[in-house]
Amino acid sequence: MTGRFRNWGMTTSTDTGIRQQRRLETAIPGPLSRELMTRKGAAVAAGVGTTMPVFAAAAGGGIVVDVDGNHLIDLGSGIAVTTVGASNPRVVAAVREQVEAFTHTCFMVTPYEGYVAVAESLNRLTPGDHDKRTALFNSGAEAVENAVKIARSHTGRHAVVVFDHAYHGRTNLTMAMTAKSMPYKHGFGPFASEVYRAPLSYPFRDGGLDGAEAARRALEVVEKQVGAANLAAMVIEPIQGEGGFIAPAPGFLPALAEWCRANGVVFVADEVQTGFARTGDWFACDHEGVVPDLIVTAKGIAGGLPLSAVTGRAEIMDAAHTGGLGGTYGGNPLACAAALAAIETIEQDGLVARAREIGALLTSRLRALADPRIGDVRGRGAMIAVELVRPGSLDPDPALAKAVAAAAHERGVIVLTCGTHGNVLRFLPPLTISDELLHDAMDVLAEALRA
Ligand SMILES: *Cc1c(COP(=O)(O)O)cnc(C)c1O
Repeated sequence: MTGRFRNWGMTTSTDTGIRQQRRLETAIPGPLSRELMTRKGAAVAAGVGTTMPVFAAAAGGGIVVDVDGNHLIDLGSGIAVTTVGASNPRVVAAVREQVEAFTHTCFMVTPYEGYVAVAESLNRLTPGDHDKRTALFNSGAEAVENAVKIARSHTGRHAVVVFDHAYHGRTNLTMAMTAKSMPYKHGFGPFASEVYRAPLSYPFRDGGLDGAEAARRALEVVEKQVGAANLAAMVIEPIQGEGGFIAPAPGFLPALAEWCRANGVVFVADEVQTGFARTGDWFACDHEGVVPDLIVTAKGIAGGLPLSAVTGRAEIMDAAHTGGLGGTYGGNPLACAAALAAIETIEQDGLVARAREIGALLTSRLRALADPRIGDVRGRGAMIAVELVRPGSLDPDPALAKAVAAAAHERGVIVLTCGTHGNVLRFLPPLTISDELLHDAMDVLAEALRA
């Protein structure tokens, strides 16, 4: 690599001007946020919701500062995006340098080095050492759609298998692939055809089914209801995100990948949420040595700038005809500069190992709560969740999840819920957060559970 993409400066990712401490100056929301929420209500479509009614003014490290000066602990990373922090100095410097050079030419018109360098990085970092190719897009949903296009083009088949509790996006095809009706699909049909759903491995609710048995159960549905000969792709999140941070039992993913290989089905890992060090490996597939044919990435890829990718076996990726893949903005130069800086940060600052440390800290603090309403503590790395139930049962308690999240918000901790039943609290801090902030956030959570 030569030229502008080498010069990222000497600052470290912890070098942010924002005071790394939770501090409330006003009630949440404060008066300036309340005023902006009123303007939002009058100007922004009602369908675009917000987790918290506070407006951001600055963010970095493990803190979001709102317009009223409140310092909130960030356990959401803007939904698993700001893995290297929301104002990472390397990312800021790289984007600043690129924006002064040019903002856009369209890679399909006059290409630029940054796009190629991101493709090279993804080909190097993603699981497997086979020959790979990459195509860049703007959003996770757009990349998932393109993975399906590529798989169909390669196999000449139409059907796509997805899983219970899956989340793949909000476009028409990805709504069909997403499991949950409210809020993602309700009223938005009709949906794309040739999408079939198989049962997942969900250890907390499976009654002890091991990975191999759960895979057999899923594959029986696929063979009987779809037929391998009709199947272009099987698309799965190696740890489900919006579906509730469900990590399948060991052996489940390898068995599915093996079956796909034996049947000429393209095995697609949707690592939009789990990718880029989030789970304590570069990619969640690495944990069990699973090598997907195609891997879809987005969210944590570019330090907060919109970018997504499909990376995979050269012979599959190259099946689509020239001109068949692309888009006006796909692989925008600013996003590519940000991605290269984010990747360098993960490598140089040891953020893969940091994700494991964060996972160990969160897991031990959450287990120590020993609260009978916490049915399950699960996840890997900096992707940890608790599933809340009525004590002594598997009955989901979404009202409790909502109340605990609201109590944490009031106390200055940004925490998100997820899960088919909405009864899961999930923790996705930036990997640049300090241990002090994590401990403070866990103290707040304990208090919120008591309240
Ligand atoms: C967020 C997400 C998507 C969709 O990404 P967008 O950038 O919001 O389109 C797809 N798959 C998974 C697993 C996700 O978490």
